[in-house]
Amino acid sequence: MPHTVRAIGATAESAPLTPMTIDRRDVLPNDVRIAIDYCGICHSDIHTLRGHWGAMPYPLVTGHEIVGRVIEVGGAVTRFAVGDTAGVGCLIKSCQECDNCRAGDDHFCQAPGHPILTYSEPDPFTPGWTTQGGYSQEIVVTESMVLRIPESLDKASAAPLLCAGITMYSPLKHWNAGPGKTVGILGIGGLGHMGVKFAKALGAHTVAITSSPDKVALCRELGADDVIVSSDESSMAAWSERIDLIVSTLPGDHNVNPYINLLGLDGVYVVVGAVGSLTHPVSLYSLMRRHRSIAGSQIGSIRETQEMLDLCARDGITCDVEIIGADQINTAFDRVVAGDVQFRFVIDNSTI
Ligand SMILES: [Zn+2]
Ligand SMILES: [Zn+2]
Repeated sequence: MPHTVRAIGATAESAPLTPMTIDRRDVLPNDVRIAIDYCGICHSDIHTLRGHWGAMPYPLVTGHEIVGRVIEVGGAVTRFAVGDTAGVGCLIKSCQECDNCRAGDDHFCQAPGHPILTYSEPDPFTPGWTTQGGYSQEIVVTESMVLRIPESLDKASAAPLLCAGITMYSPLKHWNAGPGKTVGILGIGGLGHMGVKFAKALGAHTVAITSSPDKVALCRELGADDVIVSSDESSMAAWSERIDLIVSTLPGDHNVNPYINLLGLDGVYVVVGAVGSLTHPVSLYSLMRRHRSIAGSQIGSIRETQEMLDLCARDGITCDVEIIGADQINTAFDRVVAGDVQFRFVIDNSTI
């Protein structure tokens, strides 16, 4: 029999989040059952629940930055034991057989309908169910999709690593951020602040790019070697053609051309997360004249996520978070939309 757990979710697109119960499946041989301690609030949760990305199945519980304790394991589980600290990110299933999965890129699984997201998808394990996320007391996930959270990391501050962290770490690794490279992190919010920390940890000369002069000191505190204030033309001009890689977290509609001009020869502008539209056509000539390119990246593989977590343990890297109780989630959503959060909200799941 499935077991019922408490959760916070929405019953309709326009409805506020309210307490509810959801069912979790019985542990299968390869499953890990996790009692959730903390779950980060990602902007994707808000877009999903409010129907910005299409019609959703309700009731729906979001949350894909999940950290907790293993409380039960299936008979075939080998990597986790009861009591371990474990994490779950954006994905709960990939096929493990397609070319991309075999190459270790399970987040780009090519099987029909895959990879399966942690919430809002038809549940591949229980016909008729919808996958439900981490604003809940427990979750049951296949071992191969569960992350080992180093015990030295603060659990609440580690939770957003599972989405915000890997979203920044993966493109930095893929495009070889490291010693000798100058890396720009564009937009210094929940994603961007992690980008600055990772670019620095990987050894790159790290340049924070923010529209807000008020954030310059903060960017330095995060580890930025230099800061560009994008609203200041002289600041932008001083950095023309000096950056090798820009990872852009800009969430809204914007003009990409001024940022492309910051790229030197072979420079790459990588778009991550949920982006708006371009307000101006891309100047193709500006790409041609310096071998520049525009690319995209989305979260990261399980393998890369574990690698990132281990780097975080080595260097003591975590997210800067504000911990909230379950009764503050609706307010937190409003504050995320308004940009009124110092990086990331994390729910204390003991309050659910
Ligand atoms: Zn997310
Ligand atoms: Zn696959």
